[in-house]
Amino acid sequence: MPRAHLHSAIFASLVAMLLTVAVAGVGNAGEAAANGAASKAARTAATTAPKRSDSSTDFARIDATTTLLVVSPHPDDETLCCAGAIQRVLKAGGRVSVVWLTSGDGSELSMLIVEKSLFINSDKLRDLAARRMAEARAATSLLGVPAAQQFFLGYPDRGLLLLMTDNYATPYHSRFTGATSVPYATALFPGDPYTGQSLERDFDAVLDRVHPTLVLAPSPEDGHPDHRASGILAIRALSHRNELAKGRYWIVHGGEGWPSPRGYYPDIPLNPPPRGKGLDPTAFVLTDDEQTRKLQAVRAYKTQMEVMSSFLLAFVRTTELYSALPVPAAVSKK
Ligand SMILES: [Zn+2]
Repeated sequence: MPRAHLHSAIFASLVAMLLTVAVAGVGNAGEAAANGAASKAARTAATTAPKRSDSSTDFARIDATTTLLVVSPHPDDETLCCAGAIQRVLKAGGRVSVVWLTSGDGSELSMLIVEKSLFINSDKLRDLAARRMAEARAATSLLGVPAAQQFFLGYPDRGLLLLMTDNYATPYHSRFTGATSVPYATALFPGDPYTGQSLERDFDAVLDRVHPTLVLAPSPEDGHPDHRASGILAIRALSHRNELAKGRYWIVHGGEGWPSPRGYYPDIPLNPPPRGKGLDPTAFVLTDDEQTRKLQAVRAYKTQMEVMSSFLLAFVRTTELYSALPVPAAVSKK
């Protein structure tokens, strides 16, 4: 085989290998295995219709006094989970802020497909993070979130769970960017160390600044470790403030090929994810305008659309799902 063809064949097989990992759990290869034993129960959960909330009263009260904070582990999560709720709050005269905990600087798949590089290159990953932050600003501006209410903390992609455990006090080293502290000048606190303590302090500062009445955060049942850590962070912070009642929870990495079907099917609701079994989510019904704007915001994520468009577009459905409980009640009753 000619050398050039050999290189492209290796490149293609690496892309295929990484795509397999991505499809198994979008960067979380352990997810499929973890769900295997519970597949029957998961199928049952996936066919159980959630409560509908046309008036949004059982989701949360939304009016001019609502101040919403969306906790987004990576650029794009806030749009996938919550674009409808964000628009509803703004239309009601309320305020919306978004905090991104990472800037999406740990994606080998993006490195390969967007940056066309087989090797981890710290400079390119920091460049990719800058692009993803710009996309996040564009997407949330489309939804109506003012630039002054868009907060980037700049913590390490794929590192948040370690920050909340092993690296709570000792700085974490990102193998992607080489950073041990927040490397982005546009972050809220550039230079803050990559420790759990520091992440909690920065997140607290956002809560002090925003004073939310409603917080939409990932459920710790989400399949992505950064999402689970983000949920734990939000729950701990709200708990310290005795404000747990303000939290509502969503899932983006729901297991077993969810959302199913993949791709753009704007006329069907989002079914409950297998990983959300027992969370009893409320279906928040989007208006046609809210759904159209959500699609525009998803499309603003050009780097992500290059890598996994059918996954992203599968969140543009007639509903978004939110649960009042972060984890199933059955777990705490056992
Ligand atoms: Zn994410």
